[in-house]
Amino acid sequence: VTTVGKPDISREKSAELYRKSKTFFPGGVNSPVRAFKSVYGTPLFIEKGDGPYLWDADGNKFIDFCCSWGPLILGHNNAKIREKVTETALKGMTFGAPTAIENELAELILKNNKFIQKLRFVSSGTEAVMSAIRLARGYTKRDKIVKFEGCYHGHIDSLLVKAGSGLVTFGETSSAGVPESFAKETIVVPLNNIEAVKQAFTEYKDQIAAVIIEPIPANNGLLLQDVEFLMELREITSKNKSLLIFDEVISGFRVGFEGAAGFYQIQPDIITYGKIIGGGMPVGAYGASEEIMSNISPEGAVYQAGTLSGNPIAMAAGIAQLTELNRLGFYRDLNNKTKEFADAIQRFASARSYRVCVQQVGSIFWIAFSDKTKIQSAADIDPTSMEKFKIFHRECLNRGVYFGPSGYEVGFVSAAHTKIDLEMAKRTIFDALDITFK
Ligand code: PLP
Repeated sequence: VTTVGKPDISREKSAELYRKSKTFFPGGVNSPVRAFKSVYGTPLFIEKGDGPYLWDADGNKFIDFCCSWGPLILGHNNAKIREKVTETALKGMTFGAPTAIENELAELILKNNKFIQKLRFVSSGTEAVMSAIRLARGYTKRDKIVKFEGCYHGHIDSLLVKAGSGLVTFGETSSAGVPESFAKETIVVPLNNIEAVKQAFTEYKDQIAAVIIEPIPANNGLLLQDVEFLMELREITSKNKSLLIFDEVISGFRVGFEGAAGFYQIQPDIITYGKIIGGGMPVGAYGASEEIMSNISPEGAVYQAGTLSGNPIAMAAGIAQLTELNRLGFYRDLNNKTKEFADAIQRFASARSYRVCVQQVGSIFWIAFSDKTKIQSAADIDPTSMEKFKIFHRECLNRGVYFGPSGYEVGFVSAAHTKIDLEMAKRTIFDALDITFK
């Protein structure tokens, strides 16, 4: 039975908190994606989370598919993570000196990931990528970086660039405050287009330090790449003595313990991690072969440091989370559950001839408002479809399902989402789609 005309949820307390937060923070938020700029209403202020659920300040309960933008693969407030963090916190918050717990998390990762031999912990995905880029430049003694239109790598000056016109372009800054001279070191090419990459290597012969890609691009919708394309990237970078960097801040530990490198069985030169690796605490990491990592200070000449790097509480959360992920069958169950969920939404939409394309890999999914059957590059996305998302988002919130507040954001399913939760979410989504296409 289709539900129509659900009244808006109460947002009184959230609205009040937002009025106040605007006096403290630019735009009232500490990260711009949290503002509800492209959807209806004021941002919801979150009170608490448990398992797959979120509660806002007004007491509204939601099934959450944002999962803090990816880190919460076990859901909110996981008991094992909470216990390990509490136990560790009893010994102190930070020491600025090596601790055994850093070894413990590193060992857990390196023993179960054949694509990196050594790593360095940092405190965010942005920091991981920034350090990986510096490492690539220091190692190759070259300056230019190739990035792809539609991939996000954090708010690093040289990567806050967008494509200009033309197939292979110097980046144009996409943020005020990024010098044009920095953007000139970044070459932007379209995704899934090996010809453009070849052209970049011809034009900038012997100048390209690295090609950086989200092997599973998930910041501009979910733009699944052909595996052949990723393999060709591996080949062309090796041939030109450039490094291939996989930015796995989202895909790392998400599509499998070995991330996208394991999923596609492609060996990149450097891999960056964030989100899941910290179990909900601020952790990032970058890793590579021993030989490449030996260039990092104090062993090598590439400087990189951090007061809170390898923070014990953050390491504890990471250990507790990754230990669960490493259990036999963890990814099989989570990925199957997500596929069933995404397929059901696609079937429902197709049966009613709604212009919807659901893309999914592992436990990541994206509901695109498009009649295309495959979306692989930023240019394939119709910006006007975001009007449909805006309606869809409101209808979902009013019915108790929480998505990130932008149609370009993907959804995440966690191990805490039971089949019953997913069944309920599915019905809500069906109703919301009916209203969206009314
Ligand atoms: N790289 C990718 C692929 C990301 O998705 C993000 C964040 O969403 C980052 C880097 C930056 O990570 P952080 O927000 O932790 O700085």
